[in-house]
Amino acid sequence: MTKENYSFIDEVRRRRTFAIISHPDAGKTTLTEKFLLYGGAIRSAGSVKSRRSNKHAVSDWMEIEKKRGISVTSSVLQFNYDDFCINILDTPGHQDFSEDTYRTLMAADSAVMVIDCAKGVEDQTKKLFHVCKMRGIPIFTFINKMDRAGKDPFDLMEDIEKVLGIRSYPMNWPIRKDNNFKGVFNRQKKQIELFHGGNHGQDIANTITGDITDEKFSDLLGENLHEELKSEIELLDIAGDNFNLEEILKGELTPLFFGSALTNFGVEPFLKSFLDITTPPKPRKSNLGDINPESKNFSGFVFKIQANMNRAHRDRIAFLRICSGKFEKGMTVNHVQKNKKVRLAQPQQFLAQDRAIVDTAYPGDIIGIHDPGIFKIGDTLCEDQSKLQYEGIPQFAPEHFAKISTKNSLKRKHFLKGIKQLAEEGTIQVYKKPHTGMEELIIGVVGVLQFEVLEYRLKNEYGVDLLNERLPFHYIRWVEMDNFDPSTFSITMDTMIVEDMNEKPVLLFQNEWSINKVAERNPKAVLKDVSV
Ligand code: GDP
Repeated sequence: MTKENYSFIDEVRRRRTFAIISHPDAGKTTLTEKFLLYGGAIRSAGSVKSRRSNKHAVSDWMEIEKKRGISVTSSVLQFNYDDFCINILDTPGHQDFSEDTYRTLMAADSAVMVIDCAKGVEDQTKKLFHVCKMRGIPIFTFINKMDRAGKDPFDLMEDIEKVLGIRSYPMNWPIRKDNNFKGVFNRQKKQIELFHGGNHGQDIANTITGDITDEKFSDLLGENLHEELKSEIELLDIAGDNFNLEEILKGELTPLFFGSALTNFGVEPFLKSFLDITTPPKPRKSNLGDINPESKNFSGFVFKIQANMNRAHRDRIAFLRICSGKFEKGMTVNHVQKNKKVRLAQPQQFLAQDRAIVDTAYPGDIIGIHDPGIFKIGDTLCEDQSKLQYEGIPQFAPEHFAKISTKNSLKRKHFLKGIKQLAEEGTIQVYKKPHTGMEELIIGVVGVLQFEVLEYRLKNEYGVDLLNERLPFHYIRWVEMDNFDPSTFSITMDTMIVEDMNEKPVLLFQNEWSINKVAERNPKAVLKDVSV
């Protein structure tokens, strides 16, 4: 089938939109690059060498762009592989880890979790995993760096279950001797796959396959390793979980793959299997019930707003996840929350090679639309006149807090305007003490870089110099209970009660001990780390 022959329904069904989640350095960038290599979007892969040294982190994608001379952008990457049209959403890590990273997961239909085989489950993976779990999307695990010394595969499975609370089903099982990663046993096809070639990861790797009982493997692997493999597979078959597609699609069981992004070993089998098992765009919840992606009316929601840091270009880009219908350049849509018509004139899409003006796009795709300041995170756009609204995007737990005010009281109006704008873009969360005015605000951010963004933008866009005092809190809980009364609610000495901009009660904690204490003392309160 050529691209021109796809019907609207074909276009929807061939979409796979996912995020790659991992802790920095686990190999997300390398794996992404290898997907591009196998998709034919780049011809040869380089290797990531120096680590980021800039004070201001740049996103991994810009990193790819700089190092490898290909042009990608910081939000989403689209390319074709076989008959699939793939959208990979970037989940920035390092210092640019922010609430955006969590919000991006709201636009994904599934997630690929990359784990370094020597390190097991790490902190950032844990945080991102919890958001995926909350959404109930399928999560696929790629245990990376198998070409190097690492933990025992059974221990890694236990680590995933203990730390993340999800059971795993190994789709393949590594064949390794003295840190030499030779191949895998493919449990679906019940065959051994030995890898070779690949020119140290520059090119596509080759595979020798055969039945596990095939005598040639005793020669190729040595008798001991061959026997060891057979008994490990037997153990897995007897003691491990069964393959259960339904549980996988609900995110209750994670298919596990072993491989090496660097050498390409196991990358293509993983990609193929992942694309086959995971889903195309699924119906999405709205106030009017589930909206089928294959329905004709165009709809989507804004999950991210990116401001231009360059003073000369104050424009913003709102990132829209298309949920149903066909998008066409220049179409006029309803901005439901603002009850206003908007013409989508210069929509951009991000292809592996380029950022381009897009003429058409389909459910699962992400487009960037010019935002003159009218969009908020979570806004719905739709084609017909209905009051369709997609489920809102939660507020996720910030980890850093500061008390802020303006140095110059004459600038108060500008200060408040700037804060409101930045809160709407989702850069910061804003709180205040109950029953007080807006003189002194508390803000929370997921990544500390956002403090710098805040200070920079208030100065440059609103002419406001900020007084900024860091607070010692690191945890937040939204309180759900009937008749919350701050004057009688029992907290510890080091806890602060505030309210968010929706006037929901919020607690700021310095440590987990205090969270447990407060929960104990107030059994009627439910403490949540996201606010929906
Ligand atoms: P990210 O921070 O998760 O995007 O990680 P990168 O893709 O930038 O990789 C971090 C480092 O690990 C780089 O030096 C890579 O070359 C290296 N790396 C990535 N995948 C592998 C792998 O499969 N094996 C080995 N040995 N190194 C890898």
